[in-house]
Amino acid sequence: MNYIFLGMPGSGKGTQAEALAEKFNIPIISTGNCFRKHIKNETELGLQVKDILEKGDLVPDEITFEMMKKEIETMDISNGLILDGYPRSIKQAELLKEFLKIDIVLNIELSEDQVLLRIGGRRTCKCGETYHIKFNPPQKEGICDKCGKELYIRDDSKEETIKNRLQVYKEQTAPLIDFYKEQIINIDGNPPIPEVTEEISKKLEINN
Ligand code: ADP
Ligand code: ADP
Ligand code: ZN
Repeated sequence: MNYIFLGMPGSGKGTQAEALAEKFNIPIISTGNCFRKHIKNETELGLQVKDILEKGDLVPDEITFEMMKKEIETMDISNGLILDGYPRSIKQAELLKEFLKIDIVLNIELSEDQVLLRIGGRRTCKCGETYHIKFNPPQKEGICDKCGKELYIRDDSKEETIKNRLQVYKEQTAPLIDFYKEQIINIDGNPPIPEVTEEISKKLEINN
């Protein structure tokens, strides 16, 4: 089965994608993590997209699609795949349609107020793990439980950038809820992390 996680920035897509990937033993592709890796490694693509991410705009559709496709080609997707952060526009969904069949779209619903609290306390590790200073703190402050590296605050967590990302979500990404109306399962993103994971598991069982 192939899954997509939809939701506002900070709604918990990455966190829940990780949990589902572990449960089903299927790989995740997070386009945000891919772009951040390219930026860190100063690849040609990284240099091309750095300012776009910093502003909180979307990387052009074709560039994003090609990166995702290349990444998928290196993965074993025989058991399925989880897409975290792709697609983010109708055009991206149309490009994807020609390439991969999507079975289920998990749409995490959360109010803007909560999203701001989540993004405000988010701490990220270069290995891809995500923490929250209050809601999901690492065992040792500022250090990743998984790999021991120092956690950081993402460059796109400034107030102005967050405002723009929410606007971009409303204009370009929210229309996907209608695009995928046949595949969508809505998930209440408010409860604590394990409870949201539990709700996703239950709803997936019902749909299987
Ligand atoms: P969030 O955690 O806020 O949902 P991500 O880590 O998924 O953010 O993405 C960070 C940034 O990477 C986005 O603001 C955007 O600039 C870029 N990006 C990620 N996925 C896509 C995509 N599918 N299309 C265009 N840009 C993307
Ligand atoms: P997204 O990928 O949608 O941007 P993340 O998974 O990065 O969202 O989550 C945003 C922040 O909120 C992170 O700091 C994460 O630890 C925290 N978080 C995720 N889910 C929950 C939850 N159900 N309750 C409280 N905090 C959460
Ligand atoms: Zn780590």
